[in-house]
Amino acid sequence: MSRDPIAGASEESVIVPLPEVVRNQIAAGEVIERPASIVKELVENSLDAGSGHLQVDLEEGGAKLVRVIDDGIGMNAADLALCFEPHATSKLRDSGDLDHIASLGFRGEALASIGSVARCTVFSRRKDDLTGLRLINEGGRIGEPLEAGGPRGTSIEIRDLFYNTPARRRFLKKPSTELSRCLEVVQRMALGHLEVGFVATHNGKRSYDIEASMDLAARIRRTFGSELSDALVPVEGDDGTFKLFGYVAPPRFARRDSARQMWFLNGRIVKDKVLIRVLKEAYRGYLDPGRQPVAFLHLSMDPSLVDVNVHPAKAEVRFRQDRRLFAFLLNSLRPAVAQTDMATPGEGLLRKALNRDGYQAHPGQGALQDPGTLSRPSSPREPFVVREVPGRPFEPVQRPKIEDLPDFSGSPTQPAAAERAQGASLTDPEVDELPGPFLQIDKTYLVRRLPDGFEVVDQHALHERITYEGLLRDMADGKVEVQRLLVPEVVEVSRSELALLAEHREALARVGIEVEPFGETAVAVQGMPARLRHPDPMGLVRDVAEILARTGKGPEAADVIEEVLHSAACRSSVMAGDELGEDEIRTLLRRGKELESDQTCPHSRPTRVRFTIADLERAFHRK
Ligand code: ADP
Ligand code: MG
Repeated sequence: MSRDPIAGASEESVIVPLPEVVRNQIAAGEVIERPASIVKELVENSLDAGSGHLQVDLEEGGAKLVRVIDDGIGMNAADLALCFEPHATSKLRDSGDLDHIASLGFRGEALASIGSVARCTVFSRRKDDLTGLRLINEGGRIGEPLEAGGPRGTSIEIRDLFYNTPARRRFLKKPSTELSRCLEVVQRMALGHLEVGFVATHNGKRSYDIEASMDLAARIRRTFGSELSDALVPVEGDDGTFKLFGYVAPPRFARRDSARQMWFLNGRIVKDKVLIRVLKEAYRGYLDPGRQPVAFLHLSMDPSLVDVNVHPAKAEVRFRQDRRLFAFLLNSLRPAVAQTDMATPGEGLLRKALNRDGYQAHPGQGALQDPGTLSRPSSPREPFVVREVPGRPFEPVQRPKIEDLPDFSGSPTQPAAAERAQGASLTDPEVDELPGPFLQIDKTYLVRRLPDGFEVVDQHALHERITYEGLLRDMADGKVEVQRLLVPEVVEVSRSELALLAEHREALARVGIEVEPFGETAVAVQGMPARLRHPDPMGLVRDVAEILARTGKGPEAADVIEEVLHSAACRSSVMAGDELGEDEIRTLLRRGKELESDQTCPHSRPTRVRFTIADLERAFHRK
């Protein structure tokens, strides 16, 4: 057609309404990308029709055939005649209904879109009807409903997807890829609809099977295997408005993608930013931020509290009370995440060690750093005096409970100065719930017997976690003990860093970091939190300056404080390279046990590797 404006000189309009089939094909571009999208739409329709069991048959990855057979309410002749019409739906009557959508579908677009790009046959029979009806739709040419025999319920057969839109057909991937995407959809649907049975077949062979009676745990086990399902920790929450239940997995199952992070909102599969963020938050400190935790979570609420009409594929939603929801979810999730078993299973490591050529290498070499280079103090240690920080909000130092002791210095027979000053005993002879003996290796790793194997603890990582939690608690209680450096340490900083440190001097003192400007490009560090074992004033002060500059916030902000304390715990460290007696080891482990979680250091590295007897048997080919 000519685009020459003179063409408009004739009386004919250049604008024409598109034929309906083209309109439907355009709509199909939004929701029907591949066979898996058809599976999703058809299964949603079957679930909306109240089915108790459904079967998904696929051929050639779904490109040749997707057929969904259900035992739902079915359609009469009038409904069947309308089901392929665009914007025709039984699930919505007026715009008011959009505010409280309880069904999975509501747009009335899916069948019209699918019908315009494939060859479709629908058979349907309602519960009380003696016979059923069949209707054919070939690429948008809709036939008449004709009487036909068949079981109650509905079966929809979609053949030759994109046969009439070859450009789109070319975008389909190999059948195996399309198949796995289809199965992924069926699996998610089966995990989201717990009263419904699912069967999937490919080229006539059964490839997935979930019985209606299976609960969520059984479904996860069937879908992903027992290694994952055995490690899951249940989650439950109910605040009268929101209800949550499901499972979270230990951090070691985390993946780069979010394929095993499943949120179901009133049964609907959703991928929502708020939900992804809250899960990340629930794993904070336990998981490398670049990885996605594995979780299966059912969230329910009144449909009027959420807008599902945000995106054609209906995966994104908008919560009307997102702040309250976030807090509710975090409160429910965080304790469950902390309870997951975060130890690294030793089996894989053992196998690697045994497979290594010869045994000239020290087992685990490479993973071991020279403990001497691990966070040693950058300057010779100055003598410390313990003193109380003046002014509010600090109260006089109380005699600390055993778990509040700053740390262990020296051997048990040579109590640290700090400890002597407080007259407390380092170890508690009454605590013996941790069965010894313990073995210390390379002054870094602690080996401990367990009822069914043994575990190796990284004493540095564990102590780092304990120090961090202790600092956090001191802060919360408004009591941070400071050790004063008799000879202040001078740390060179830039002018802008100096300005920041000077500006936040008082707030930093409240965390136990005492600095004074010293000339134009340096600060004198006069005190450090007493909890730190081998403080590294230079490293810590530079980290703090960097954090203040980057965040643009002061140490009053919760996230800044958290980062500063992380840095403090890490910079001070710690116990790599310290020889520990049995009682000290016991105290360290016991303090770890008292924390919400002692399984990772604050930077989410694991603190322990665990070997079960079964691991050993496998590694030595006994089983
Ligand atoms: P929507 O699901 O948004 O209403 P669809 O195009 O997916 O739109 O379906 C159109 C209508 O066809 C539905 O509203 C429903 O009434 C009917 N329908 C589709 N599939 C089934 C089924 N498996 N069982 C009963 N009715 C169905
Ligand atoms: Mg639908």
